[in-house]
Amino acid sequence: MKHSCNTSLKKSPFIFLAVCTFFFLSGCNSSGRTSALDIEKRYSKEAINYFFELAFFDNTQPKTIRSLAKWEKDIYLFLGGDTMPGDRSRVINAIAQMNSVGLPVKIRLSDASNKSNLFLHFKPVKKGSISEDTAGTSAVTSVDGVIETVRIDIANDSVTRSNFDLKRKAVILHELMHSMGLPGHSNTYSVAVLRANLTTELTDIDRQVLMLLYERSLSPDYAGAEFEKDFSRSLYHINAKEKLTDHIKAQKINKATLQKIELSGLHQPKDKTMEPKVVKFTNPINVYAKGDVYPGFITSINDAAQELHSATKGIDMKYPGKAKETSDDGIYFNFQHIPALKNAIAVSISTTTYWDLRFQSISKTEIQIRFRDQKDMPLAIANALFQAICRSTPSGYFIVKSERLCLKPEFREVLRLYYDPALSSGLSKTDLEDVFEQLP
Ligand SMILES: [Zn+2]
Repeated sequence: MKHSCNTSLKKSPFIFLAVCTFFFLSGCNSSGRTSALDIEKRYSKEAINYFFELAFFDNTQPKTIRSLAKWEKDIYLFLGGDTMPGDRSRVINAIAQMNSVGLPVKIRLSDASNKSNLFLHFKPVKKGSISEDTAGTSAVTSVDGVIETVRIDIANDSVTRSNFDLKRKAVILHELMHSMGLPGHSNTYSVAVLRANLTTELTDIDRQVLMLLYERSLSPDYAGAEFEKDFSRSLYHINAKEKLTDHIKAQKINKATLQKIELSGLHQPKDKTMEPKVVKFTNPINVYAKGDVYPGFITSINDAAQELHSATKGIDMKYPGKAKETSDDGIYFNFQHIPALKNAIAVSISTTTYWDLRFQSISKTEIQIRFRDQKDMPLAIANALFQAICRSTPSGYFIVKSERLCLKPEFREVLRLYYDPALSSGLSKTDLEDVFEQLP
């Protein structure tokens, strides 16, 4: 669902009318900062940051910041195409969830296609011919930021696939959420509907984001760049250096922790003239293993993941135990037992990144571990996992204490800072050096 929802907001051909109306609406919005203050009192900082990603970006043009689009009249949803048993009640359930948020627009199921403005179409698809990535698309047509029609296409996956009902419900809710005027996806909140992790119930943050979108003071066509200015106090990526400095001071984080990130926690872009910068892993982080996977290796992956979780809420790492099903992103271990290997263990790690909305993220890390004997494998696995999510160099990040894998205290702090939203993705080595200079 994440990479190819193809949500697009098309401009009307009546561009002049659009411009006139735009000025009119901008006029209404000139007191942007005053209404921003009011909104900042009523919504969490997390909700405002999440909203920014969802409302102003879409993955067809991840680096382009767009304008708001939202409905101004009630939505009449027409269900069509190749439905499967239970689809109607799944759609009714998703509509009820949306309506329970209490937005100024209501969604109703309609039997008349000529009186409908939201078309949910189930496409027939040959068994096994689609992946999760093409589960749904939403095309949103808006004029001056006012949504006029939406076309949602949901692919019919094979009914024999596991968790069909759950997936179907999740895709419907996910696409309905896009159709309200939220074209983007976010990796910041692993438990949220606009994330590729099959959420079937609106979470608290989803509700907040929907309510925020339909705040009267956020007019249709409100430009993302204006939002960035008006909400600069709340958005982590604006004045990111100052916010990071304040965070480190307030949390009494050791200066050396920042230096550790600056020296070997940054991602070097392929273009060597570019500066290394903060690039985070996409949540949830699924871990897979193939090759000579001994049962003890799985235990070590789970133990190390548990230890990483205990250090920060910022990551959500899971070992699914079988081949990938929901996403291509993740950490892939490949174990090879080679009795004639010169060293006891040889590890190599390669990372793939992508542009997720405006920031680069890690999508996939492949860890190849060749081993002659198993003795030191728990440590090798744990260290590789840590390196995969926030380090550029291999090292001994973990120690074994009373037969338990423990992340060294200084690296617990590195991880906690790395996956805190206060350390904004995209901060460069120079930025971190500047912050370091500002610290007492
Ligand atoms: Zn989507």
